[in-house]
Amino acid sequence: LLSNATCAATPRLQARLFSISSSPLAHPGEIHATVSLVSWTTHYKRQRLGLCSNMLAAQPPGARLAVWLAKGTLRLPPPATLLIIVCTGSGVAPFRSFVHERAAQRAAGASLAPTLVFFGCRKPTDDFLYEDEWGRFASPEHGNLLAGELDVLGGGGAGGGGGDVVEEEAHKKKSWFVPAFSRDQTSKEYVTHGIRSEARRVWGLICAGAHVFVAGSSGKMPEDVLEAFRDVACGCGGMDPAEAKKFFARMDAMGRYTVEAW
Ligand SMILES: Cc1cc2nc3c(=O)[nH]c(=O)nc-3n(C[C@H](O)[C@H](O)[C@H](O)COP(=O)(O)OP(=O)(O)OC[C@H]3O[C@@H](n4cnc5c(N)ncnc54)[C@H](O)[C@@H]3O)c2cc1C
Repeated sequence: LLSNATCAATPRLQARLFSISSSPLAHPGEIHATVSLVSWTTHYKRQRLGLCSNMLAAQPPGARLAVWLAKGTLRLPPPATLLIIVCTGSGVAPFRSFVHERAAQRAAGASLAPTLVFFGCRKPTDDFLYEDEWGRFASPEHGNLLAGELDVLGGGGAGGGGGDVVEEEAHKKKSWFVPAFSRDQTSKEYVTHGIRSEARRVWGLICAGAHVFVAGSSGKMPEDVLEAFRDVACGCGGMDPAEAKKFFARMDAMGRYTVEAW
C-alpha cells in the first residue's frame, strides 16, 4: 500500500482518450475502442511500454473498467454529404464508427453520398485494421456502401469540369477505399501518395462539397496530408500555393476540414 505522503507527492495520471469506433445505430448498447499497443525502445535499448494501452491489453475478457465519456470533435455529417476520410493506424477508429453508422442509415432507407477513404498502415499482413470490414464496405457484392447511391458529382464532375460522361463513369467504378502501406517491401506508400495519385477525383469531390476528415497518431501526418490537399488544389484547381493555403483555411473555418491527431 502507498502511504498518504507518497500519494500526495505523486502526480495524478493524465487521462487517455480513445475515439469510439462503434456506431450507436449499428451497435446499440455497445461502445468499441480501437487501441494501438504503445511500445518503443529507448536510445539506451530499454524497452518502454505505454501505460494505458498495455493495461487495457492485459485485461482478461469480461474485465470491468472505470471509463467515462467525453464529447469528441468529429461529427458525422448527414447521409447526403460527400466525405473524404484520411486515417492512419488507430486513426481509423472514429471512421469505422462513421461508416457503420452510414450503413445503418442506409438500411433504414437513407440514400448515401460517396465516401472516399485513404487508409495508411505499415503492412497489409500486420496492422491493416478492419481489413475485412473495409473489403465488405468497398465491394459491389455488398452494396458498395462507400460508393453510395447519390449522384452528387453530376454537375461539378471529377476534376471540377463536369460533362465528361466517360470520365464520370470511370470515376464511379474506381475503388473508394485507397490503402497505403508504408513498410511494404514492394511499394512504400503513405496516405499522401494516395491523395496525390487520386488528385482529380479528390478535387472533384471537394468542389462538389465534400467534408474532409483526418485522424491518426503520426506526428507529421496531419501537416503532410494538408500539404497534399494543397498540392491537389494547385494542380487541379489552378490555384497558387497562397490561394490553396487560404482555401483550406476557409474549409477549416467552415467545418469542412477536421483533424483529430494524437
Ligand atoms: C482525441 C484523442 C483520441 C484518441 N483516440 C485514440 C484511439 O482511438 N486509439 C488509440 O490507440 N489511441 C488514441 N488516442 C491516443 C491515446 O489517448 C493514448 O495517448 C495512447 O493510447 C497512448 O497511451 P499509453 O498510456 O498507452 O501510453 P503512455 O504511457 O502515455 O506513453 C505514450 C507516450 O510515450 C512516448 N512515446 C511513445 N512512443 C514513443 C517512441 N517511439 N519514442 C519515444 N517516446 C515515445 C510519448 O511521449 C508518448 O506521449 C487518442 C488521443 C486523443 C487525444
